[in-house]
Amino acid sequence: MMDREKINVCENLEEVEQRIRAACERAGRDRGEVTLIAVSKTKPVELLEDAYRWGCRDFGENKVQELCEKMEVLPQDIRWHMIGHLQTNKVKYIVGKTALIHSVDSLRLAEEIERHAAKLGVTVPVLIEVNAAQEESKFGVKKEEVLTLVRAVSALPHIEVRGLMTIPPVAENPEDNRVYFREIKQLSVDIAMENIDNVSMKVLSYGMTDDYETAIEEGATMVRVGTGIFGARNYNIV
Ligand SMILES: *Cc1c(COP(=O)(O)O)cnc(C)c1O
Repeated sequence: MMDREKINVCENLEEVEQRIRAACERAGRDRGEVTLIAVSKTKPVELLEDAYRWGCRDFGENKVQELCEKMEVLPQDIRWHMIGHLQTNKVKYIVGKTALIHSVDSLRLAEEIERHAAKLGVTVPVLIEVNAAQEESKFGVKKEEVLTLVRAVSALPHIEVRGLMTIPPVAENPEDNRVYFREIKQLSVDIAMENIDNVSMKVLSYGMTDDYETAIEEGATMVRVGTGIFGARNYNIV
């Protein structure tokens, strides 16, 4: 078991940052095109504060309650990303608070976001989550259904579709997921060509600790790194 004391968030961030830079260079991309999201789920606030001091301003959480609790005690200029599956009955707690909801995968969920956003008079930026490998166990829409969902969501005036997100299979080798990243990138290009009102495809959220460099080579504009920054998660000792 890893000792909390031994996790050096700043050192880890330095390494992740260097790898991001190297991947950008290989891909001929500008470092500024890629946002690093520090995925802090299950991790104590002190570790998030370390990451904040280092310079992180984008944090990702996958549970509404945990996100709200951390938001209350951490600096106001943090951009919070909801990256986990979102239940419709939890929408009301986060609308207007998140920089981006990465996990919209049904019209029903989008309509619930719209309802609360309209009430508050805010616009909510979202990504559509795609189940790139068509895994039974995963959330997200099938590739062939993405355009239909994007069109439907585009009609909701308080939601802005900014792009696509995907969680590919757990990979043994970072190369294994390159094909999925490529497909999602291509899908975003196809959708962008439709010129749908209220829809842009500028954000591509993919790449985690094991494959963020490959993801950057394949066009990711947001990578979501947890373990690589905060160490392994231990769900048993929470
Ligand atoms: C936990 C999580 C991550 C981070 O995973 P690591 O492998 O720890 O980097 C990224 N995206 C989502 C949606 C997650 O739930």
